[in-house]
Amino acid sequence: MNHYDAIIIGAGNGGLSAAARLATKGKNVLVLEKHNIPGGCGTSFRRGQFEFEVALHQLSSMGSPEKPGELRKLFREYGIEDKIEWIPIKSLYQVNLPSGRNQSIPANREEAEKVLCEQFPKEKNNILKYFKTVYDFHNQTNAFMAMQAKSTSEPSEIKKLIVKSVFAKKFPVLAKYAMASTQEVLDEFFEDKELQLCLSAYWCFMGMPPERFPFSILARCTAIYIDDHPYYVRGGSQVISQALADVVRENGGTVVYNCGAKEIIIKNNKACGVIDDNNNEYSCDDIISGISPIDTYFKLIKKEEVPKDARKYLSAYTVGISALICYMGLDCTPEEIGYTDSFNLTYDNLDCNEVFQKAYTIMPETDPIINTCYTVDDPKVSPEGTSVISAGTLKFGKPWMELSPEEYHKTKYEAGNMIIDRLEKMYPGLRSHIEELEVATPLTYMRYLHHPEGSIYGFEQDIKSTVFFFPREDQVENLTFANGWVNICGFGPNYMYGSQVADRILNREIK
Ligand SMILES: Cc1cc2nc3c(=O)[nH]c(=O)nc-3n(C[C@H](O)[C@H](O)[C@H](O)COP(=O)(O)OP(=O)(O)OC[C@H]3O[C@@H](n4cnc5c(N)ncnc54)[C@H](O)[C@@H]3O)c2cc1C
Repeated sequence: MNHYDAIIIGAGNGGLSAAARLATKGKNVLVLEKHNIPGGCGTSFRRGQFEFEVALHQLSSMGSPEKPGELRKLFREYGIEDKIEWIPIKSLYQVNLPSGRNQSIPANREEAEKVLCEQFPKEKNNILKYFKTVYDFHNQTNAFMAMQAKSTSEPSEIKKLIVKSVFAKKFPVLAKYAMASTQEVLDEFFEDKELQLCLSAYWCFMGMPPERFPFSILARCTAIYIDDHPYYVRGGSQVISQALADVVRENGGTVVYNCGAKEIIIKNNKACGVIDDNNNEYSCDDIISGISPIDTYFKLIKKEEVPKDARKYLSAYTVGISALICYMGLDCTPEEIGYTDSFNLTYDNLDCNEVFQKAYTIMPETDPIINTCYTVDDPKVSPEGTSVISAGTLKFGKPWMELSPEEYHKTKYEAGNMIIDRLEKMYPGLRSHIEELEVATPLTYMRYLHHPEGSIYGFEQDIKSTVFFFPREDQVENLTFANGWVNICGFGPNYMYGSQVADRILNREIK
């Protein structure tokens, strides 16, 4: 039986990054991946002359080569920064409001403040106060995390008490808003509902409406995307996935495709090996799961070995949202149909919280449309004179799972058609320019990612599931997780989290 220092289940962003980190530190790792390519969500597919990005709209934490963000620093350590062409995206996003007003938000704090103050002059002072609060929150969170990282040992009870009493004085903005929802903060600062929608667009990256979307995540996303700029990647996110898989291999690791993990072997509540889909059995010191805790505990571990508390503990978490997306290749340039910004969020209703209830239904009649035209910032993403667009809505998987196969086929194209009809109003002529179209539903994401209910963001990322409360991972010794189910979802967060998980394993050995 082959022995590995660590076996990584799933070659998604978190799993690949953890494997790359361990391999570059000399560990002998095995990555098992069910699909025939690496990446999980970080992938693309081809139809006709178009290569469609599946998931990445904006990469966070990159910064510039001169002022690198956390993610660029990590890719530098892995040796892949210079192997990939990074493309800065000019604006944060454009919000298309129900009144017909369109507001683009620049990826620069002063410019964003200026544009918003000009457009919403009555709210000028509140806009400036709001941005100050966002940045104070972000800076205090960084300072708090740096302080936490410095403390090496478990805090004593006395130390915990001291920290508690000075925390609010030292980090007042963090203390005030740490548990606030986005809606609560927006209501505190602004009366104008259109302005609220212009500032809260990143709720769609976590799939939670503003009343359930933690302000902590919105503030961090806003500050990080402004400071480090949003980026895209020449060739799409598959290029990063492949580069990370190459790092694993070049450093002596093994990556196996078309072969998932079938069983985790547990002895005395310690994970000690894996059986793959081809019935090969491996022993190992550590297992890092890149898939959901639900599947890890209840599909991969024998019933009698599942830790007693796992079911009860995980029952507090709800499987998150999936998506319904049209991937479109157009035979025209973005300008011809009116695209000026890469990332667009279109609302038919000012009450984003009320309209979110439609995410539990099948048809996308009024759901906000998330709409990215990759060609705006990367004209080389498709052949000259053409454009690539992904446009869709967030939808929960359950209603889709209840359709019969016949109903599914019909419904999928009806739903896709509805999205295109709605986009036509915003971008007249779009339909007549479609050369290739593929519609993905929650069942598509379920099929390719194997996640419960086709969830694309792991568990619901609401207030109770903020970083402070993510599922505990110590149910089984030597089994840990590196993915969007136990961390903030997204590309940047999971590449970084994967490396932290690997570091925890490496540091544990040093002690
Ligand atoms: C349509 C869409 C749009 C998105 N938009 C954005 C965005 O703009 N910005 C952003 O930051 N994030 C976005 N995300 C979310 C982001 O892609 C994810 O949060 C992140 O990629 C999740 O990474 P992960 O490590 O959890 O792995 P996943 O991507 O979830 O990959 C898990 C991997 O495990 C494999 N697997 C499953 N079961 C097994 C098994 N038993 N054995 C072996 N392998 C197995 C799967 O095949 C898969 O490759 C989007 C996601 C989707 C789908």
